[in-house]
Amino acid sequence: MDTKRYAAVEAGGTKFVCAVGTGPTEIERETRLPTTTPEETLRSTLEFFQTAAREIGPISSLGVASFGPVDPEPSSRTYGYITTTPKPGWRNTDVGNFLSRGLGVPFKFDTDVNGAALAEYRWGAGKALPSVVYITVGTGVGGGAVLDGQMVHGLMHPEMGHIPVRRDPALDPFEGSCPFHGDCLEGLASGPAIQKRCGVPGGELEDTHEVWQLVAEYLAQAVAVYTYVVSPSVVVLGGGVMQRRGLFPEIRKRVQAWVNGYIEHPKLSRDVGNYIVPPGLGDRAGIAGAFALASEAASAFEASGDSIGPEPFV
Ligand code: ZN
Repeated sequence: MDTKRYAAVEAGGTKFVCAVGTGPTEIERETRLPTTTPEETLRSTLEFFQTAAREIGPISSLGVASFGPVDPEPSSRTYGYITTTPKPGWRNTDVGNFLSRGLGVPFKFDTDVNGAALAEYRWGAGKALPSVVYITVGTGVGGGAVLDGQMVHGLMHPEMGHIPVRRDPALDPFEGSCPFHGDCLEGLASGPAIQKRCGVPGGELEDTHEVWQLVAEYLAQAVAVYTYVVSPSVVVLGGGVMQRRGLFPEIRKRVQAWVNGYIEHPKLSRDVGNYIVPPGLGDRAGIAGAFALASEAASAFEASGDSIGPEPFV
C-alpha cells in the first residue's frame, strides 16, 4: 500500500491549486493561491507545503503539473521551468527546482495536460486501458498523451491544440484568435475564440447558438486526427468549454462522419459513447495529475538508490 505523502501543484495561469496527501482521493490539506508574480506565488506555494510538512508530517516527493510551454526533460538544464509562455512575468521561470529545493524532496514536472492524461490513465476514464489522449478546451486548447503508461515527450511535449483544422469561410468567417496561427484549433474553439467571435463569453450563449456547431466540428476534426495519429484507447475531453455536455453527442457524430467507416472498430461505431468521453476524474483531473507526477518522482528516486533528497535550499 502506498502511504507516502505527496506535495501536488496544479499550476494554472489564474491560480495554483496546491494539495498534500497520500493520493488524489486522500487529501489532507489543500489551498488555492492566485497566480500573480512568480516570486509571490512560488513563495506562498512553498510556505503552504512547509507548514503542512511541519504540522502533519514529512513529504516524500513533489509533482508539478503546469501551464506551458514547459521543459519536461529531466536531463535538460532548464528542467522544471515554464519556458516561452506569453503570460507576463512568467517566461523562463524555474518552478520545479525552486519548490523541490525548498522542500528537500525529489520532483517531477510536466504539462498540466500530460499530468491530467496520466491521472485519467491511472484512475479515471483510461483506467485499465493501454492509452489515453486528454484534451482540455478552455482558455486555450491543449492535449497530452499517455501510451503504455508513458507520457509522450520528444522535442518537448505535444501541443495538440495548435493543429490546423479546415474552416469554411462561408460558414465561419471568423479568422481565429491564435496569435501564432490564426485559425488553428485553439484559435477557433477555445473560450477566448468563442467570446471574440460572438462578442460575449460562451457561458452566456444558448445551447442552440450556431457557434456550438462550429466548435463541435473543429473538435471532431481534431479528435479524428488524434485517432489516426495516436490510435488511443480513449479520448478524454475536459476544460471549461466541455462543461457544455451537449457538445459530446455532436462531436461523436461528426468524428464518425469524418472517419467514415475507414477504421473498423466498435469504439468508432456503436461504442463511440465510450471512446469520446468527459474526464472520469471530473474537474479533479488536473490536481490528480500532479499527484501522479509526485508518485512517479518518488518511484524514480527510490530506483536511483539515493538515500537523501536534493540539497536543502538555504
Ligand atoms: Zn495556434
